[in-house]
Amino acid sequence: MLLSFPCLAESDSFLISLSKKFNLSTKAQDHLGQFCKAPHPFGSKRQQELAEWLLKESDDFAVNTRLQKFEALTPNPKNFPKIVKGEPLTVKRRGQNVLAQIPLSKNPRCFVIAGSHYDSKHLEGLWSVGANDSGSTSVLLLEIGRYLRQIKNLKPAFECDLLLVWFDGEEAILPEWNDGQRRYAQKIHDNTYGSRHFVSQMQTCGQNKCVKPSQKYDWLPVRYMVLLDMLGSKDIAITDDLNSSLKLRRRLKSNAKLLGDLPILAARTQSILDDHIPFLQAGIPSLNIIDFENLHRWHKPTDTHEHVHLPSLNRAGRLALLTLLQLLHKP
Ligand SMILES: [Zn+2]
Repeated sequence: MLLSFPCLAESDSFLISLSKKFNLSTKAQDHLGQFCKAPHPFGSKRQQELAEWLLKESDDFAVNTRLQKFEALTPNPKNFPKIVKGEPLTVKRRGQNVLAQIPLSKNPRCFVIAGSHYDSKHLEGLWSVGANDSGSTSVLLLEIGRYLRQIKNLKPAFECDLLLVWFDGEEAILPEWNDGQRRYAQKIHDNTYGSRHFVSQMQTCGQNKCVKPSQKYDWLPVRYMVLLDMLGSKDIAITDDLNSSLKLRRRLKSNAKLLGDLPILAARTQSILDDHIPFLQAGIPSLNIIDFENLHRWHKPTDTHEHVHLPSLNRAGRLALLTLLQLLHKP
């Protein structure tokens, strides 16, 4: 695809038309299959394989791709709900976030992050692959990266580069999100391990929280964080997350309108806890694009490949893309 960038006044309609042309590639179905081969909770061998696979896939279209490895002390599920004598209270797990930079600017002055977690929820004694939660949006990040890289002549118009981040360890090890802090003997923050690690590695530069994707760059500010989660249900309905930055919630709504797809938004509001929280706590305006309405297969063994509805994921992709393009363009 070869498109030239029009003058700034026309840019909004240009970004809309660019977003409307976004279609999932023929690879999306196969890629989803990668996430559905086996359960891949935080710390598992399969999760490590997926990290390597994501790295290899994003090497096709991104630069400075890398694994951000970390270790975390997690609750020992054998001690829950009751302490078992002789069992250690904590278990060390190794994880890795996957990072890939999409170059859009000649001299990037900043980054916008697009993120998704890529670990599946561990369900004791059950085979659970998490096709929608987290396969769908992990695939969508790959698709967005590939699409943007196909478009030439965009470089001078963007101020920021896009940083794709697949977060490890979003899911709680214990059954419920807050069990670690509320019900575990040794109080442990038992969720969002990867995103918390990512934020802990950011440095302050000037007034900002900054990242340094390679030696070639200085520390550059992260302007925004946009998180994608659970966007592959047939009757997709994106929840209005009260924790997300108000400015970005409004933008999402106006973008759904611009794309002629207001029905993709749910009327309901809810405060959602997810990987965007550590970024908000670090002062970075953040938005969670999540369908928290279709929960009948959520954290159940029935969250499988055949139930992920690619047309929904495509619609969500257009909305996410338009939002990202605007934030990259005029930060
Ligand atoms: Zn989940």
